[in-house]
Amino acid sequence: MTKVLFVASEALPFVKTGGLADVAYALPRGLRDAGVEVAVVIPMHRVIKAEHGSELKLIAETEIGLGWRKKYMGIRTLTSDGIRYYFIDNEDYFGGPVYKGGDAESEQYLYFCRAVLSALPFIDFKPDVLHCNDWHTGMIPMLLRTQLGLTELGHIKTVFTIHNIKFQGVMGFKLMQDVLSIPRRYYTSEYIEANGDANMMKSALVFADRITTVSPTYAKEIMHPFFGMGMEGILRARQDDLSGILNGIEPEDFDPESDPALPSHFDRGHFAGKRECKKALRSEFDMGVKLSDPLICMVTRLTSQKGLDLVQYVLEELLREPVGFILLGSGDEKYQTFFNYIAAKYPEKSGVWIGYNEDLAHRVYAGSDFLLMPSEFEPCGLAQMIAQRYGTLPIVRETGGLADTVSPYNQFTKSGDGFSFGPFNAHDMLHIIRLALGVYRDKSMFRRLRRNAMMRDNSFVDSVGKYKELYNALVGNGRI
Ligand code: ADP
Repeated sequence: MTKVLFVASEALPFVKTGGLADVAYALPRGLRDAGVEVAVVIPMHRVIKAEHGSELKLIAETEIGLGWRKKYMGIRTLTSDGIRYYFIDNEDYFGGPVYKGGDAESEQYLYFCRAVLSALPFIDFKPDVLHCNDWHTGMIPMLLRTQLGLTELGHIKTVFTIHNIKFQGVMGFKLMQDVLSIPRRYYTSEYIEANGDANMMKSALVFADRITTVSPTYAKEIMHPFFGMGMEGILRARQDDLSGILNGIEPEDFDPESDPALPSHFDRGHFAGKRECKKALRSEFDMGVKLSDPLICMVTRLTSQKGLDLVQYVLEELLREPVGFILLGSGDEKYQTFFNYIAAKYPEKSGVWIGYNEDLAHRVYAGSDFLLMPSEFEPCGLAQMIAQRYGTLPIVRETGGLADTVSPYNQFTKSGDGFSFGPFNAHDMLHIIRLALGVYRDKSMFRRLRRNAMMRDNSFVDSVGKYKELYNALVGNGRI
């Protein structure tokens, strides 16, 4: 059976700072259920040591060469839910924040790339495929090809998945050369150079055997300059090796019939519980809107990618209507300031919670009628899929995974499980929000769309089959 080692900077149930951790949790589980032999390797971040230290079994302690220096590497392991996890331990690199920022972060993950390959001879899982994720793992394909090609690891194939091409692991070549002994001849635009810097994402796009990204639409978009962020050239050159495979969510983690975070439960045939969730949410945010008024929410990182400039532009216009608005988010200060201003000026109609809160997110998804997600770009997006699971209709911009996971309402065929608009324009967005509010008042139509949304299969099941095919084609043995 083909063996896949999944490599990421973070993964639940151990550590999460963003959507990657959800995927690095759900996808290996899906692969396992589909009969793929899969293990996961991540850094041993501080929180993991603190929360799981005593459960981790030490496999090896050694020193690895990092340019002119030697650095400690510990390998620890634990089996969780039938999946073997390996943790790369080095207090200097992973004893602080998950992402240190700047050159310190580059060095953290240059080390991680080297360490993962150095750990392979010590672990009893012998992978046929290394499935690398985002720039933090970006040097692995290159090191494997250019420095280990003639060793017993040389047969291993690599898949590199782009979760967000905006973050590329950019640094001066000196640092990369110093840490990983990369010869200067690779520092050209044909290999790892982009815009005068060394680029870990580019290295992966050049050297990985296959490239995937997290939705079919994003796979097409990133071959164009606006979305490709400088990588469009290499992606176009490698388009035959590039595919888009949708992310999914773990359905049991977002189950309106049993979610322990909710005050009341519901399913697609019984919406009384959802009404209770809405009531409780209004009280939690101390809002004065009527229960019958539509409630629009956002659960998001506060960053321009998420289309917050559009929201900022027309939110006050929207709030003149009988509608409630809830925002749960953390991130850029300028957006925090704006939403705090909204909360102060419209206390009856708005609820704002700045920060990260998993349980509250579940209550917001369940208690709202609509989720607004007007992203400028969106590789896949999980929030819209989660919202659908709770019968909360997404209002999205047609980009990336949002275009692939939301079937927009069609008034003629009376179909759809959400709403969408095309141009990145605030009044186009407002127009579609108003259309959605109109549908909200048509009770039977609204119920129909809500049911459609709840019936949508947003799990990893389909995508797991596609990953299996990909590994299969790559290893070429037809064994999985
Ligand atoms: P991204 O990974 O770009 O942030 P996604 O939609 O793919 O966006 O994933 C975001 C995930 O993080 C979703 O599961 C969403 O519910 C969750 N999330 C985002 N912001 C918050 C928050 N402030 N509190 C709780 N959960 C959040």
